[in-house]
Amino acid sequence: MTRIFGAVLLIIVSCCLGMAASKKLIRRQHRSPLASCPISRALDAPSILPSALKTEALPAYPWEGNRGGRISPITKEYFRCKGSSLNPPIPIISDGKVLENLFDCHGADSHSLPIRHEKEFIYPILLELVNEIQASTEKPVIITSGHRCPAHNRYVDLSPKNQASKHLIGAEVSFYVAQLERNPEVVLNAIFAFYRSNPRYAAVGKAYTEFVRYDKDVDISTKPWINKEIFIKLYLPTEGRNGDNRHPFPYFSIQVRFDKDTNMPVAYSPADAQHFLRR
Ligand SMILES: [Zn+2]
Repeated sequence: MTRIFGAVLLIIVSCCLGMAASKKLIRRQHRSPLASCPISRALDAPSILPSALKTEALPAYPWEGNRGGRISPITKEYFRCKGSSLNPPIPIISDGKVLENLFDCHGADSHSLPIRHEKEFIYPILLELVNEIQASTEKPVIITSGHRCPAHNRYVDLSPKNQASKHLIGAEVSFYVAQLERNPEVVLNAIFAFYRSNPRYAAVGKAYTEFVRYDKDVDISTKPWINKEIFIKLYLPTEGRNGDNRHPFPYFSIQVRFDKDTNMPVAYSPADAQHFLRR
Protein backbone atom coordinates (compact mmCIF):
# COMPACT_ATOMS: atom_id res chain seq x y z
CA MET A 1 0.00 0.00 0.00
CA THR A 2 2.77 2.31 0.98
CA ARG A 3 4.57 1.51 -2.26
CA ILE A 4 1.50 2.36 -4.33
CA PHE A 5 1.07 5.74 -2.51
CA GLY A 6 4.75 6.57 -3.07
CA ALA A 7 4.48 5.80 -6.77
CA VAL A 8 1.43 8.07 -7.18
CA LEU A 9 3.19 10.90 -5.35
CA LEU A 10 6.23 10.53 -7.58
CA ILE A 11 4.05 10.74 -10.71
CA ILE A 12 2.30 13.94 -9.46
CA VAL A 13 5.63 15.67 -8.61
CA SER A 14 7.04 14.72 -12.00
CA CYS A 15 4.02 16.19 -13.79
CA CYS A 16 4.28 19.48 -11.86
CA LEU A 17 7.98 19.82 -12.64
CA GLY A 18 7.25 19.09 -16.30
CA MET A 19 4.58 21.82 -16.52
CA ALA A 20 6.85 24.42 -14.89
CA ALA A 21 9.63 23.66 -17.33
CA SER A 22 7.18 23.94 -20.23
CA LYS A 23 5.94 27.40 -19.04
CA LYS A 24 9.54 28.68 -18.81
CA LEU A 25 10.19 27.52 -22.35
CA ILE A 26 7.05 29.30 -23.66
CA ARG A 27 8.01 32.54 -21.91
CA ARG A 28 11.50 32.41 -23.38
CA GLN A 29 10.07 31.85 -26.87
CA HIS A 30 7.70 34.88 -26.60
CA ARG A 31 10.14 37.27 -24.99
CA SER A 32 10.56 40.57 -26.92
CA PRO A 33 13.76 40.66 -28.92
CA LEU A 34 14.41 44.08 -27.39
CA ALA A 35 14.41 42.59 -23.96
CA SER A 36 17.52 40.73 -24.82
CA CYS A 37 19.25 43.80 -26.37
CA PRO A 38 21.03 45.96 -23.80
CA ILE A 39 20.41 49.74 -24.12
CA SER A 40 23.60 51.62 -24.76
CA ARG A 41 24.34 55.28 -25.38
CA ALA A 42 27.41 57.13 -26.48
CA LEU A 43 29.10 59.07 -23.73
CA ASP A 44 28.60 62.37 -25.55
CA ALA A 45 24.95 61.79 -26.46
CA PRO A 46 22.66 64.64 -25.29
CA SER A 47 20.55 63.87 -22.30
CA ILE A 48 16.90 63.28 -23.06
CA LEU A 49 15.90 64.22 -19.55
CA PRO A 50 14.36 67.72 -19.24
CA SER A 51 16.44 70.21 -17.35
CA ALA A 52 15.03 71.43 -14.08
CA LEU A 53 12.30 74.07 -14.57
CA LYS A 54 13.28 77.56 -13.55
CA THR A 55 10.69 80.07 -12.40
CA GLU A 56 11.15 83.68 -13.42
CA ALA A 57 9.13 86.72 -12.35
CA LEU A 58 7.25 88.58 -15.06
CA PRO A 59 8.61 92.06 -15.79
CA ALA A 60 6.79 94.63 -13.69
CA TYR A 61 4.96 97.64 -15.03
CA PRO A 62 6.35 100.93 -13.73
CA TRP A 63 3.39 101.38 -11.40
CA GLU A 64 3.72 97.89 -9.94
CA GLY A 65 5.77 97.04 -6.90
CA ASN A 66 4.84 98.55 -3.63
CA ARG A 67 7.27 101.46 -3.67
CA GLY A 68 4.99 103.33 -1.32
CA GLY A 69 5.67 101.00 1.58
CA ARG A 70 2.40 99.83 3.05
CA ILE A 71 0.34 101.90 0.62
CA SER A 72 -1.47 99.83 -1.99
CA PRO A 73 -0.25 100.39 -5.54
CA ILE A 74 -2.71 102.20 -7.78
CA THR A 75 -3.94 100.14 -10.70
CA LYS A 76 -6.36 100.98 -13.49
CA GLU A 77 -9.15 99.75 -11.22
CA TYR A 78 -8.87 103.02 -9.28
CA PHE A 79 -9.66 104.90 -12.50
CA ARG A 80 -13.08 103.37 -13.03
CA CYS A 81 -16.05 105.67 -13.55
CA LYS A 82 -17.48 107.04 -10.29
CA GLY A 83 -21.05 107.16 -11.61
CA SER A 84 -23.84 105.58 -9.60
CA SER A 85 -27.51 104.82 -10.18
CA LEU A 86 -28.07 105.94 -6.58
CA ASN A 87 -27.37 109.53 -7.60
CA PRO A 88 -30.66 111.40 -8.06
CA PRO A 89 -31.66 112.94 -11.40
CA ILE A 90 -30.69 116.60 -11.78
CA PRO A 91 -33.38 118.78 -13.41
CA ILE A 92 -32.14 121.25 -16.01
CA ILE A 93 -34.36 124.28 -15.62
CA SER A 94 -34.79 127.18 -18.03
CA ASP A 95 -37.40 129.93 -17.73
CA GLY A 96 -38.95 128.05 -14.87
CA LYS A 97 -39.43 124.91 -16.97
CA VAL A 98 -37.66 121.58 -16.58
CA LEU A 99 -35.98 121.05 -19.94
CA GLU A 100 -34.38 117.74 -19.06
CA ASN A 101 -33.50 115.47 -16.19
CA LEU A 102 -29.85 114.50 -16.10
CA PHE A 103 -29.31 110.90 -15.07
CA ASP A 104 -26.02 109.47 -13.91
CA CYS A 105 -24.67 106.24 -15.39
CA HIS A 106 -25.10 102.98 -13.51
CA GLY A 107 -21.49 102.96 -12.38
CA ALA A 108 -18.34 101.01 -13.07
CA ASP A 109 -20.21 97.70 -13.04
CA SER A 110 -22.24 98.79 -16.04
CA HIS A 111 -19.40 99.68 -18.41
CA SER A 112 -15.69 99.28 -18.96
CA LEU A 113 -12.81 101.70 -19.12
CA PRO A 114 -11.99 103.10 -22.58
CA ILE A 115 -11.01 100.33 -25.00
CA ARG A 116 -7.84 100.47 -27.05
CA HIS A 117 -6.47 97.52 -29.01
CA GLU A 118 -9.33 95.47 -27.52
CA LYS A 119 -8.17 96.09 -23.95
CA GLU A 120 -9.16 98.51 -21.21
CA PHE A 121 -6.88 101.48 -21.40
CA ILE A 122 -5.73 104.35 -19.20
CA TYR A 123 -2.71 106.36 -20.31
CA PRO A 124 0.22 104.65 -18.55
CA ILE A 125 1.91 107.91 -17.57
CA LEU A 126 -1.05 108.73 -15.30
CA LEU A 127 -0.72 105.42 -13.49
CA GLU A 128 3.02 105.88 -13.22
CA LEU A 129 2.72 109.42 -11.86
CA VAL A 130 0.19 108.70 -9.12
CA ASN A 131 2.27 105.74 -7.95
CA GLU A 132 5.43 107.84 -7.98
CA ILE A 133 3.67 110.46 -5.88
CA GLN A 134 2.69 107.78 -3.38
CA ALA A 135 6.23 106.42 -3.34
CA SER A 136 7.96 109.74 -2.79
CA THR A 137 5.47 111.25 -0.32
CA GLU A 138 4.64 107.94 1.39
CA LYS A 139 1.03 109.11 1.51
CA PRO A 140 -1.95 107.64 -0.34
CA VAL A 141 -3.21 109.31 -3.48
CA ILE A 142 -7.00 109.64 -3.51
CA ILE A 143 -8.31 109.55 -7.07
CA THR A 144 -11.57 111.45 -7.20
CA SER A 145 -12.08 111.24 -10.95
CA GLY A 146 -10.43 108.94 -13.46
CA HIS A 147 -12.38 107.73 -16.45
CA ARG A 148 -15.81 109.27 -16.94
CA CYS A 149 -18.28 107.74 -19.36
CA PRO A 150 -20.26 110.34 -21.37
CA ALA A 151 -23.34 110.06 -19.11
CA HIS A 152 -21.35 110.55 -15.92
CA ASN A 153 -19.22 113.31 -17.43
CA ARG A 154 -22.37 115.19 -18.35
CA TYR A 155 -23.92 114.49 -14.95
CA VAL A 156 -20.98 115.94 -12.99
CA ASP A 157 -20.44 118.99 -15.19
CA LEU A 158 -22.79 120.09 -17.93
CA SER A 159 -20.65 123.01 -19.12
CA PRO A 160 -19.88 122.95 -22.88
CA LYS A 161 -16.13 122.96 -22.23
CA ASN A 162 -16.37 119.84 -20.10
CA GLN A 163 -18.00 117.86 -22.88
CA ALA A 164 -14.56 117.49 -24.47
CA SER A 165 -12.90 116.47 -21.21
CA LYS A 166 -9.96 114.11 -21.42
CA HIS A 167 -11.51 112.17 -18.55
CA LEU A 168 -13.69 110.67 -21.29
CA ILE A 169 -10.73 109.02 -23.02
CA GLY A 170 -8.67 107.94 -19.99
CA ALA A 171 -6.20 110.80 -20.40
CA GLU A 172 -6.98 112.83 -17.26
CA VAL A 173 -7.01 112.21 -13.53
CA SER A 174 -8.16 114.35 -10.60
CA PHE A 175 -6.77 113.61 -7.17
CA TYR A 176 -5.46 114.86 -3.86
CA VAL A 177 -3.03 113.27 -1.44
CA ALA A 178 -4.27 112.20 1.98
CA GLN A 179 -2.45 113.90 4.87
CA LEU A 180 -1.11 116.46 2.38
CA GLU A 181 -4.47 117.98 1.55
CA ARG A 182 -3.26 121.43 2.56
CA ASN A 183 0.26 121.03 1.16
CA PRO A 184 -0.15 120.77 -2.61
CA GLU A 185 3.36 122.18 -3.12
CA VAL A 186 4.78 118.91 -1.76
CA VAL A 187 2.83 116.97 -4.37
CA LEU A 188 3.88 119.33 -7.12
CA ASN A 189 7.53 119.00 -6.18
CA ALA A 190 7.19 115.21 -6.26
CA ILE A 191 5.96 115.45 -9.86
CA PHE A 192 8.79 117.80 -10.85
CA ALA A 193 11.36 115.55 -9.15
CA PHE A 194 10.01 112.53 -11.01
CA TYR A 195 10.63 114.20 -14.38
CA ARG A 196 14.03 115.61 -13.40
CA SER A 197 15.40 112.37 -11.96
CA ASN A 198 14.03 109.84 -14.42
CA PRO A 199 16.74 108.80 -16.94
CA ARG A 200 14.03 108.13 -19.49
CA TYR A 201 13.23 111.85 -19.60
CA ALA A 202 16.78 113.09 -19.11
CA ALA A 203 17.57 111.36 -22.41
CA VAL A 204 14.94 113.36 -24.32
CA GLY A 205 15.66 116.78 -22.89
CA LYS A 206 14.22 119.87 -21.31
CA ALA A 207 10.86 119.60 -23.04
CA TYR A 208 10.10 116.92 -20.47
CA THR A 209 12.33 117.72 -17.50
CA GLU A 210 11.44 121.40 -17.21
CA PHE A 211 7.94 122.77 -16.59
CA VAL A 212 6.80 126.22 -17.61
CA ARG A 213 3.73 128.13 -16.51
CA TYR A 214 0.76 128.20 -18.86
CA ASP A 215 -0.17 131.81 -19.54
CA LYS A 216 -3.46 131.54 -21.40
CA ASP A 217 -6.83 132.02 -19.75
CA VAL A 218 -8.00 129.17 -17.62
CA ASP A 219 -10.89 128.64 -15.24
CA ILE A 220 -8.67 128.69 -12.13
CA SER A 221 -6.63 131.31 -10.29
CA THR A 222 -3.33 129.37 -10.31
CA LYS A 223 -1.44 129.23 -13.57
CA PRO A 224 -1.08 125.62 -14.68
CA TRP A 225 2.27 123.92 -15.16
CA ILE A 226 3.08 122.35 -18.47
CA ASN A 227 5.75 120.23 -20.10
CA LYS A 228 5.60 118.31 -23.35
CA GLU A 229 3.84 115.31 -21.80
CA ILE A 230 1.40 116.64 -19.19
CA PHE A 231 -0.65 119.63 -18.10
CA ILE A 232 -1.10 120.18 -14.36
CA LYS A 233 -3.92 122.23 -12.87
CA LEU A 234 -4.29 123.03 -9.18
CA TYR A 235 -7.84 123.74 -8.05
CA LEU A 236 -8.21 125.71 -4.83
CA PRO A 237 -11.03 124.83 -2.40
CA THR A 238 -13.40 127.29 -4.06
CA GLU A 239 -12.63 126.13 -7.61
CA GLY A 240 -13.51 123.19 -9.82
CA ARG A 241 -16.15 121.67 -7.58
CA ASN A 242 -18.25 119.14 -9.44
CA GLY A 243 -19.97 115.84 -8.85
CA ASP A 244 -16.66 114.00 -8.55
CA ASN A 245 -14.99 116.67 -6.43
CA ARG A 246 -17.34 117.48 -3.60
CA HIS A 247 -14.58 117.44 -0.99
CA PRO A 248 -13.24 120.65 0.62
CA PHE A 249 -9.59 120.20 -0.38
CA PRO A 250 -7.42 121.68 -3.09
CA TYR A 251 -6.90 119.07 -5.78
CA PHE A 252 -4.83 118.42 -8.86
CA SER A 253 -5.92 117.57 -12.34
CA ILE A 254 -3.34 116.08 -14.70
CA GLN A 255 -4.05 115.80 -18.41
CA VAL A 256 -1.92 113.89 -20.88
CA ARG A 257 -0.82 116.15 -23.75
CA PHE A 258 1.56 113.92 -25.64
CA ASP A 259 1.82 110.16 -25.95
CA LYS A 260 5.48 109.12 -26.03
CA ASP A 261 4.55 105.59 -27.07
CA THR A 262 2.82 106.67 -30.28
CA ASN A 263 4.74 109.96 -30.62
CA MET A 264 1.42 111.74 -31.11
CA PRO A 265 -0.41 114.58 -29.34
CA VAL A 266 -3.29 113.43 -27.17
CA ALA A 267 -6.60 115.14 -27.88
CA TYR A 268 -10.21 114.44 -27.03
CA SER A 269 -12.11 112.67 -29.77
CA PRO A 270 -15.82 111.73 -29.70
CA ALA A 271 -15.05 108.32 -31.17
CA ASP A 272 -12.54 107.50 -28.42
CA ALA A 273 -14.96 108.80 -25.79
CA GLN A 274 -17.62 106.35 -26.98
CA HIS A 275 -15.27 103.41 -27.31
CA PHE A 276 -16.00 101.39 -24.20
CA LEU A 277 -18.02 98.28 -23.51
CA ARG A 278 -21.54 98.39 -22.03
CA ARG A 279 -22.42 95.47 -19.82
ZN1 LIG B 1 -20.06 105.76 -16.09
